[in-house]
Amino acid sequence: MTDTKKIKTIAVLCSGGDSPGMNCAIRSVVRTAIANDLEIYGIQRGYAGLLEGNLKKMDASSVGNILQHGGTILQTSRCPEFHEESIRTEAAHILKRKGIDALVVIGGNGSFNGALALHTEHGTPVMGIPGTIDNDIEGSSYSIGFDTAVQTAIEAVDKIRDTAHSHDRTFIVEVMGRKSPAIALHVGLCTGAENIVFPTKDHNVDIDAIATDIKRGIKRGKGSSIIIAAEGEKVGLSHSIQKELLEKFDIDSRVCILGHIQRGGNPTANDRFLASQMGYTAVKSLVDGKKAIVTAFREGKVIAAPFSECLGKKFDVDPQMVDVVKTLSI
Ligand code: ADP
Repeated sequence: MTDTKKIKTIAVLCSGGDSPGMNCAIRSVVRTAIANDLEIYGIQRGYAGLLEGNLKKMDASSVGNILQHGGTILQTSRCPEFHEESIRTEAAHILKRKGIDALVVIGGNGSFNGALALHTEHGTPVMGIPGTIDNDIEGSSYSIGFDTAVQTAIEAVDKIRDTAHSHDRTFIVEVMGRKSPAIALHVGLCTGAENIVFPTKDHNVDIDAIATDIKRGIKRGKGSSIIIAAEGEKVGLSHSIQKELLEKFDIDSRVCILGHIQRGGNPTANDRFLASQMGYTAVKSLVDGKKAIVTAFREGKVIAAPFSECLGKKFDVDPQMVDVVKTLSI
């Protein structure tokens, strides 16, 4: 693809884990494309679907009545083969054969790495739209789905707090976040959690500190405690905290693993608001001749940021936020 070639036909896919609001972004991409006289194809099931040639032409009505629904009408997948250069060459040939000039990828930083490799090796213009509940994409302070996931977890913890209070109980509530602390931090702050466990490489948890906090609460007449634990990379973290609290400190607790409910559900206003802007910005950037852009959220605005700034995973635990949680949960 030369710099002067005008984009006529584009395709959109979702890749990696799904997140609420992806449908909003798809709708926005499709309708902005149509408004700019572009042909638009939807690729089913991410890079795997691309390799199968699973593309279908979309029109304005293909995306009618979807913006309020979680999941993605295009479905998504993980495609380990896409790490191989020869497979990406195959993908570039498929795009060329189908007459696709550019690709919009909605996903996380793994999906962005795949898209950038395609661009670097074959010149295909690529636009990345941050879509992951983990909100861990470097270079964008927000990714689609995070707000909905946090809202879902908060509603669940509020319910757990009712029963925890009624029975003077300690609960360990496990939220999503294998490597990302974002959901745990926000849910912890918004639910008045007594403690938050962030994911760490060595799976170390400071049980003594958790027990001290619980005991201090009990001393001042507090019956219930909520510990929000990010799932981490090792299965069974919450149950091991539960076991240690009982064995070492005689603190009885219950575990509630929220799991995949955090990935589904109708997107919140915030997710719809940003997904709509990101889809629009992605297509507008292509029309403006941009070649490799991520629609990043920075300082309250959706902007077109260079791909190179959005490839890593961020791990933001703002010490001030942690202090707010600690200060308010005494
Ligand atoms: P996310 O996009 O949510 O971070 P993954 O890390 O699972 O999710 O990546 C989704 C898909 O993106 C992978 O299954 C693979 O097809 C592709 N991908 C990820 N990393 C790379 C990479 N370094 N090079 C090429 N493709 C990649």
